[in-house]
Amino acid sequence: MGRKFFVGGNWKCNGTTEDVKKIVSMLNAAEVPSQDVVEVVVSPPYVFLPVVKSSLRPDFHVAAQNCWVKKGGAYTGEVSAEMLVNLDIPWVILGHSERRALFGESNEFVGDKVAYALAQGLKVIACVGETLEQREVGDTFDVVAAQTKAIAGRISDWTNVVLAYEPVWAIGTGKVATPAQAQEVHFELRKWLQTNVSPEVAASTRIIYGGSVNGGNCKELAGQPDVDGFLVGGASLKPEFIDIIKSAE
Ligand code: PEP
Repeated sequence: MGRKFFVGGNWKCNGTTEDVKKIVSMLNAAEVPSQDVVEVVVSPPYVFLPVVKSSLRPDFHVAAQNCWVKKGGAYTGEVSAEMLVNLDIPWVILGHSERRALFGESNEFVGDKVAYALAQGLKVIACVGETLEQREVGDTFDVVAAQTKAIAGRISDWTNVVLAYEPVWAIGTGKVATPAQAQEVHFELRKWLQTNVSPEVAASTRIIYGGSVNGGNCKELAGQPDVDGFLVGGASLKPEFIDIIKSAE
């Protein structure tokens, strides 16, 4: 079953109105493979979502970087899934390691968020990944399996889910996983989906890699059989993001 290559750009908590205009102009001017070959989604901070959505080329889409776990209400500072739907924002990133580590989001909380966002009609980039400590003691697969299980136990339809494997030690550190390291975990994650969800979901769900992907290392990573694209942080703010999109070909 064909899995369309997926490239997400996570702008994190960066940018001014001027920066955003420059990045959008750069993206709009780029020559990239067609939508049949690659799905591109950029994720600016909430406040810039409407302007990016309205000024971005129509073949690229936008994602929020987070959303609240249930219906909106007295949750100061939060943004609900319903609000994103109301603004026609199609995607949301959930379970990013920065949210897990800095804001205490547990596996269960992330699973609840994924289930709620999907139920509202959003598409979800769900992030999993181990810390360096966990990798060093050989727990990588147990950690990502537990994170994936907390999502799988709460949803029944994976059509609108992209699973992002993002080892915490590789995020923003310049220490990218080797293609073999990425492939090993992606393969295990797919096997986990096959055994615990279904062979169809395992075959069709995109598993993308994130962690210090750049214009120089993307091609080799993209060549791995179970790497279906990327979630890109730092490099998504730079022209090399275009090279990363082009690694789909
Ligand atoms: C991320 O934040 O999802 C990420 C992968 O960051 P970076 O590419 O900067 O490592």
